[in-house]
Amino acid sequence: NSEVRNGDSSQCVRVAVNVRPLITPELLLGCTDCISVVPGEPQVQIGSHSFTYDHVYGSMGSPSTALYDDCVAPLVDALFHGYNATVLAYGQTGSGKTYTMGTNYSGEGSNSGVIPKVMDSIFKRVEVMKDSSEFLIRVAFIEIFKEEVFDLLDPNSSIFSKAEGAFLAKPSVPARVPIQIRETVHGGITLAGVTEAEVRTKEEMATYLTRGSQSRATGSTNMNSQSSRSHAIFTITMEQKKVAQCLAGVTNDEIGDDILCAKLHLVDLAGSERAKRTGADGMRFKEGIHINKGLLALGNVISALGDEKKRKEGGHVPYRDSKLTRLLQARGKNDSLGGNSKTVMIACVSPADTNAEETLNTLKYANRAR
Ligand code: ADP
Ligand code: MG
Repeated sequence: NSEVRNGDSSQCVRVAVNVRPLITPELLLGCTDCISVVPGEPQVQIGSHSFTYDHVYGSMGSPSTALYDDCVAPLVDALFHGYNATVLAYGQTGSGKTYTMGTNYSGEGSNSGVIPKVMDSIFKRVEVMKDSSEFLIRVAFIEIFKEEVFDLLDPNSSIFSKAEGAFLAKPSVPARVPIQIRETVHGGITLAGVTEAEVRTKEEMATYLTRGSQSRATGSTNMNSQSSRSHAIFTITMEQKKVAQCLAGVTNDEIGDDILCAKLHLVDLAGSERAKRTGADGMRFKEGIHINKGLLALGNVISALGDEKKRKEGGHVPYRDSKLTRLLQARGKNDSLGGNSKTVMIACVSPADTNAEETLNTLKYANRAR
């Protein structure tokens, strides 16, 4: 059951651009829209530049469910078939990453983001399949800040009131203890002691999402700067075991240990505004003082994966350069980035003329990922 699943390896990373509308503060400043989307084409224009992606959303008329249906639903499908998958939201602070991912989920009425829709879809499908399959679903929620990994669901963290399982922000927040990345004997990656909470319903899963977001926001003294500089990774692990064959009188031997196990990583990346890009060939990010290591490494990994020649020759993909890329990597069938996995990068941009420079940077980064 370690068969190699051949996905469409010619395009392991798909890229969508999501242009949010001008928001009130921008309108109050008199900002104008500097991006145009070519109708019916996955193409954006800014100044004299024009870029084509797999999908572009946000122009008038694109329904709010299109991004989910086109980009994320196939990954949820892949999860049920035992493939790992990753959704990455990239963009400068304020570009709509958290809004698009729905990371700051707060219960009913906030169903618009990617994560709430994923939760909905998973449990609807589990309900339909429950007679033929058994599911074990777990969630983890971590944050990578300054190359340290923190468990946002740590039950020992004093911001959680263990009594009723609810969370309460305490006035004094203790220093958080980072968790270590370990390599398993099979070359997989694990996080030592990370909380992996088993969930049986959408509501239960949502509780952990809300709890982790709360922990992310209150776990630091300077919440805005930290949450914009950290990567938040919400990971859904699904183990699935067929039971229908038992009922049909097939012996245990024939079923074997056919358990599908896969992970879906939903990543709200750090703000890209510090990722200043240099380098004569434009293919390599050069590291500077305030550059986010994870974003640099991610750009280089995705670029290497997109380089077909390099990939075919078994060329070097620099996963080890950051915690983010190491965590998303894993090996063999369990690759989450590259290999047989499916990855979607959603590049989020503001249309405001005042953000034109960062928007152009984001569009270039996303273009390189294709
Ligand atoms: P980021 O996480 O990239 O820093 P946010 O998701 O916090 O950005 O979005 C910045 C602001 O823009 C928020 O006030 C958010 O509500 C608003 N916003 C983002 N995307 C949209 C959208 N598609 N429609 C309306 N408002 C949006
Ligand atoms: Mg955010």
